[in-house]
Amino acid sequence: MSNIESNLNARMNVTGVVFSYYYICHRKMWLFAKGLNQENISGNPDVVKGELLHESRFKRQVNKELEFDRVKIDFIKFGDQVYVHEIKKSKKFEEAHIWQLKYYIYNLRARGINCSAGVIHYPASMRKVDVQYTQEDEAMIEQVSSEIQRIINQNKPPKRLSKKFCYRCAYFDFCFS
Ligand code: SF4
Repeated sequence: MSNIESNLNARMNVTGVVFSYYYICHRKMWLFAKGLNQENISGNPDVVKGELLHESRFKRQVNKELEFDRVKIDFIKFGDQVYVHEIKKSKKFEEAHIWQLKYYIYNLRARGINCSAGVIHYPASMRKVDVQYTQEDEAMIEQVSSEIQRIINQNKPPKRLSKKFCYRCAYFDFCFS
């Protein structure tokens, strides 16, 4: 087993979504990792909108799906090169989206898949962002994964933020009522 594979096994609860929440809100990340998965509750308008976008436009553009990390990853293959595709409804958390995609690439590479790039699609604004994975990203992902593990092992959730985006967060009632 490679180092990277044993690292992945040690961090089973660090999924791509958990990884992206690290860049948005540590409390949200903790709550999600602990299984308080408000995002799955039907009726959250942002979640429903995201699902609709994924079902309608994106499925016509991408030709393959790979399931791991408890999510399905969409990708296109050219020769032996794999390109990951992600769809997001808003560019507001672009940095988090980029790291989520890089985290998927990291996981694919750990499984011996030749992947070093991907694309994030923002169909609502008709934009896309190309993402290149570098060797430095691997070191950063290792470092952040350890930090995520440390945070989610804590008994209490991190302090809440007080940001504008809290109003649209699925955990708003949990944090502010
Ligand atoms: S409401 Fe704000 S503080 Fe609470 S989890 Fe969401 S983003 Fe974090």
